[in-house]
Amino acid sequence: MARCWPQGRAMAAELPSRDEERLLLVAPTRRDAEVSAQLLAEVGVRCVVCRDLRALTAALGAGVGAVLLTDSALADPAIEAFVDTLARQPAWSDVPVLVMTRAREVPALPEPVLQRLTNLTLLDRPASLRAMTSAVQSALRARRRQYQLRDQIGEQMKAEQALRDSERRKDEFLATLAHELRNPLAPIRMGVDALARIPGDSAQALRLREMMARQVGQLVKLIDELLDLSRIATGKVVLRRVSVDLRTVIASALEACQPALEAARHEVRVELPPQPVWVHGDPSRLAQVVSNLVNNAAKYTPAGGHVRIELAQVQREATLRVVDDGMGIPAEMVGRVFDMFTQVDRTLDRAQGGLGIGLALVRSLMELHGGSVRADSDGLDRGSVFTLTLPAIAAEAAADCGPGAPEAAERRRLRVLVVDDNVDAADALAIQLAGNGHTPHTVYRGVDALSAVDTFAPHVVFCDIGMPGMDGHELASRLRADPRHAGKVLVALTGWGSDEDKRRTQRSGFDHHLVKPASWQAVEELLATL
Ligand code: ADP
Repeated sequence: MARCWPQGRAMAAELPSRDEERLLLVAPTRRDAEVSAQLLAEVGVRCVVCRDLRALTAALGAGVGAVLLTDSALADPAIEAFVDTLARQPAWSDVPVLVMTRAREVPALPEPVLQRLTNLTLLDRPASLRAMTSAVQSALRARRRQYQLRDQIGEQMKAEQALRDSERRKDEFLATLAHELRNPLAPIRMGVDALARIPGDSAQALRLREMMARQVGQLVKLIDELLDLSRIATGKVVLRRVSVDLRTVIASALEACQPALEAARHEVRVELPPQPVWVHGDPSRLAQVVSNLVNNAAKYTPAGGHVRIELAQVQREATLRVVDDGMGIPAEMVGRVFDMFTQVDRTLDRAQGGLGIGLALVRSLMELHGGSVRADSDGLDRGSVFTLTLPAIAAEAAADCGPGAPEAAERRRLRVLVVDDNVDAADALAIQLAGNGHTPHTVYRGVDALSAVDTFAPHVVFCDIGMPGMDGHELASRLRADPRHAGKVLVALTGWGSDEDKRRTQRSGFDHHLVKPASWQAVEELLATL
């Protein structure tokens, strides 16, 4: 495409600029041209008088609304270059050319030239002022429609490019996902094989179990992130908001990040104000946001680095900053790290795992809280600063909102019946329940649960759905049909988590629905509300 036709600004323009509206004209004499220009200026047409056809052709590239010529210009040898330039217009463009000609001279116009001018209007000369201005104005209107088309094409091209980028990121993400899921699986499989050959109480077995627990934790974290990702993408994240002191959020986030910070031997400094910083938020989601940032600081800072967490409140705004002196973020990536599936360096040896969705989750969760997050970095190896801002609430308002985080609620000892045909899953949950002061009882078949409900009299029943024989739906319906069990809380604990699955468990009589693998925190929060 000819370089003289402007392309770049075309993509962003909504309204044509003044240069693109101008009428370029050449007349046999300068005087004629100036008179025409003046008359047209009076009806709002901006004219540029060109010395000759060659000068007009050169001016086309800087923008043109229409061209006004007389038949003498058509006889100019420069007409070939003019027509050639028009032939190289982009596909959306067809510059209107108006030629004033004496009626008797029309046959004298060079036929090949006429044929190649695809948007030509012939005006009889002498033309009335009305005829000339109306022809010029309608040419300019037609030209404006071409600009609209150009802008639409530009928008479409931008959308297509964005689609291609997101496709590419999704492909890269799938490759990363496969890699990241396989990473923890390999040591777990080796551990399982090794455990079968060594005494279960040996020091080696203990180390293996610790290693496997770590790797399973990593798998669960990846899968949780994926589930969050789809919940956020479909707008299904529901915040359980209470008034919460951000200092407690930081404390619980730091607890979760301790292993990563310690493993990298980072020096951690936490600067908290002496008084609470109250916000109206979901404590576990806020802790997830902060631990995402702190984990990243730990991950992207070479061992022995420094990580600082600062909290401050200025009037009605709470600010939480996570500062590290690690590998930093190149300037061109600082704004993009919050995009889904974006990782600065995909070739990085990410021994600690990562899918490039943590920061996208952080941004979405902050937006759901009415807050924001931003990243700053002076560049590679110059550290990073992630700043969260949230609307703070006054202490009195915090008190009005009732008790803070669920952990503040009074704990009750509960009798909990666990029903799951996956023996390991049932036993693991029972061990956690017992360790937290509750009294668990496990059964591995739906039918056994019916009698256990009578003898054990649980407050709560955690029940798997897909079980051979009597499944969770049937069990719940039968319990609900018996008025003696009306007060029992039934919790579905299942791998299925779609809206339809949740509606079904509700129809069967369940009060709550937790998706496996449910974190202990989720179970505990639920028990705390009972
Ligand atoms: P990941 O799972 O890759 O850590 P995130 O969404 O949490 O995904 O982060 C996206 C990218 O942003 C990371 O891959 C990394 O390149 C960059 N990043 C995030 N936090 C930091 C940090 N503290 N220092 C340097 N780079 C960071």
